[in-house]
Amino acid sequence: MPDTAPTLTLNDGRTMPQLGFGTYQIENSHAAEAVSMAVDAGYRLVDTAAIYRNENGVGEALAGHDEIWLTTKIWNDQQGHRESLAAFDKCLGRLGRESVDLLLIHWPCADKGKFVDTWKAFIELRDAGKAKSIGVSNFMPENLEKIVRETGVTPALNQIELHPSFQQKELRQLHNQMGIVTQSWSPLGQGDGLKQETITRIAEETGQSPAAIIIRWHMQHGLAVIPKASSRDHIEDNFTATQFTLSEQQMAAIDAMDSSEGRIGPDPARFC
Ligand code: NDP
Repeated sequence: MPDTAPTLTLNDGRTMPQLGFGTYQIENSHAAEAVSMAVDAGYRLVDTAAIYRNENGVGEALAGHDEIWLTTKIWNDQQGHRESLAAFDKCLGRLGRESVDLLLIHWPCADKGKFVDTWKAFIELRDAGKAKSIGVSNFMPENLEKIVRETGVTPALNQIELHPSFQQKELRQLHNQMGIVTQSWSPLGQGDGLKQETITRIAEETGQSPAAIIIRWHMQHGLAVIPKASSRDHIEDNFTATQFTLSEQQMAAIDAMDSSEGRIGPDPARFC
């Protein structure tokens, strides 16, 4: 049995695996196989979303595996109180579960002005035990402050773009002050980060793979991290990040890769 990843404690008292498996761009037809490979490799958290259109396959692989943490997300056009409750019921149907471990608002879509109502629906789902923990994704400081001001409930987690070329240091600091766990999406820069000189040098020094180096960097910063991989080799390779430690100098060298222009995904201020 492989080692399981370390855990983080959320502000609602629940314990979540720090390293999980991302499933964006995994086709529904391949999702069951990929998620089963991840479970075999030791992953105990799987991240999906309604918009990934693979919740059926993910749910199939996790049938009978209630111990595996399952996260899903409500898409932008389903925001609003009534709409998000209806959308979540459909997620549960596709996943074949009666509850999920974590439900996220996928993007704030602040211009539509619906995320507070969506959040109120999420609080009801949490109180009903259907979404055991609730959080957000791609929320900016003003979005976080607004939902806390209007509902008194702080998200357990904010899932944001974060990788060595785009480190989000200010938002991480705010999360720490507010008691919100940071979860890194596109933690490998969608693969672009693997060829950077600092990463390949540390990979040679340590005898680990470039992907494992980057995932380890996230983990040593206390970030939750959800790399996606399709092949068994990559899935297993990424889990080796639980098994070694980077030195302070190696961590500092990766910290120095941060760039204000390193964003690869959409800007949450505009995307909806
Ligand atoms: P990642 O940063 O995880 O990179 C995935 C890419 O890296 C794939 O091309 C993969 O190739 C490659 N790769 C993975 N492991 C290795 C390895 N060991 N060696 C070489 N190449 C490797 O990108 P994602 O954008 O998928 O982000 C991860 C997850 O974050 C998503 O799957 C999703 O769950 C979540 N996410 C959330 C968003 C949000 O808005 N909340 C937005 C985007 C992502 P291959 O597939 O061939 O193995």
